[in-house]
Amino acid sequence: MLVKGKIPKNEPIVSIGLVLPEDCQKSVEITHSETNQNFFIELKNGELVSNGETVPAVKVQNSSTDSQIIVHPVKAGRGFHWEKQISVHVLGVLEITNSNGSLFVANHLPLEQYLMCVATSEMSGECPSALLEVQTIAARSWLLAAAEQKHADLGLDACNDDCCQRYQGMNNFSEDARQSTEASRGQVLTIKGDICDARYSKSCGGITEAGPNVWPQEDLDYLVSVQDGEPAFCGPGFISEADLPEYLGSVDEHRSYFRWDFEILQEELTDHMNKIHSLNGKAVLGIENEKRGPSGRIISCDLVYLDSNNQQKSKHLESEYAIRQTLSPSFLFSSAFDMNLQNVQKGIPGSFSFEGKGWGHGAGMCQIGALGMALSGSTAESILTHYFPKAKLTRIYSS
Ligand SMILES: [Zn+2]
Ligand SMILES: [Zn+2]
Repeated sequence: MLVKGKIPKNEPIVSIGLVLPEDCQKSVEITHSETNQNFFIELKNGELVSNGETVPAVKVQNSSTDSQIIVHPVKAGRGFHWEKQISVHVLGVLEITNSNGSLFVANHLPLEQYLMCVATSEMSGECPSALLEVQTIAARSWLLAAAEQKHADLGLDACNDDCCQRYQGMNNFSEDARQSTEASRGQVLTIKGDICDARYSKSCGGITEAGPNVWPQEDLDYLVSVQDGEPAFCGPGFISEADLPEYLGSVDEHRSYFRWDFEILQEELTDHMNKIHSLNGKAVLGIENEKRGPSGRIISCDLVYLDSNNQQKSKHLESEYAIRQTLSPSFLFSSAFDMNLQNVQKGIPGSFSFEGKGWGHGAGMCQIGALGMALSGSTAESILTHYFPKAKLTRIYSS
C-alpha cells in the first residue's frame, strides 16, 4: 500500500478492490485470456471454493499487457441509484480471497496501467488528449497523495468506484488513453514538495469552490476558488449538454450538469429528513441562515421544520454533503441552489422547487470545464494551472 507523505522514486504497484466484503457477493466468474482458464469461485459454508475445490485463495496473473483477466460481475455505481453489475477486464494480478466469510477480489497492477484505465472510466475515450492527460495527472496525484485511503483496513489503495476513482479496467480503453498516460508518466501536482490531493468534480457551475469550504477538517488551502472562464468553460457556450454523453463515462444517467431543476413534495422531504436525522418532524418550512461559498454552494444552513407538537424547530446542516444528503433521497446534485416554496397553505409549503448549478462538490478541477478547455485547444498544463493555480507540475519518476 502507498504511504501518505512518501513520494515513490519508481512506478509503484497499487492494489484496487473490485469486489469488496461489503458487497456481500457470493460468487464470481473469472476468465483468463492468456491460458483460456475459467474459474467459478464461490463461498460455500464460509469456505472459498474454486471450480468445486476448496482453496485458501485464488491468484491469476497476466504475463504481459496483451492478456487480460475478465471478472464478472463487479458492481459499478455502488450505493447510487445507477448501480449496476458489469464485467471488468483487468491487467496485472487478480487475487480472490475469503475475507471473514465475504468474497474479496483485489487487482494488483503497476500504477500507470491502472491510470490508463481510470482516464477512460471517468471520461470516455472520445475525449481530446489534453483532457485525458489532465484527468490522468489528477488521478495519479490523488492516489499518490494517499490522503483519503478509504479502504486501508483491506490493504487497498482504492476501490473500483466513485467512492474513490472510477476504474472499469480495460473496458473503454483507447490508444489515445495509452498515449496520454505515457506522455504524462510520473507527473503529479505538487505544492511545497508534497503531492497535492488533486480533487475534482463533474461541474463547478461557473466558479469553483474553495477546498476548505468542502473539507474544513483537511489542509486543502491550495484548492482555491477560480472563475471557470467567462463564459464558463463548463457551460453550454463551450460544450452543449446534447454532446456531453459522447464524452462522459457511460454510467451517468443525469444529463444536466451546468444548470438543473429539481422538485420534491412536502411529505417526501419531511419523511426523508426524519429518516436521515432521526427527527419527529411534521412539515418542513424552509432553510435559513445559509452561508455560501464563492461558487454559490451553501456550506451550512438551518433546515426549519414543525415538530409533531407544532413547535418550530431547526436542524443545523453543516456541510455541502449533509445538505445534499438531506434535501433529496437520491442525493442533490450540488448545494449551489435557490430553494423556492410552492403552494404554501397556512404557512406550510406543499412542495419545494430547486434551481441549481453544478454537479458535485465543485472544488479543484471541474471535469466538464477541463473538457471545454481541451476542446477549444488548451494544453494539459494550462488546464491544470487554471484549476490548481498554486500547484506545480512535477515528474517524480520516469522509469
Ligand atoms: Zn472507495
Ligand atoms: Zn466549471
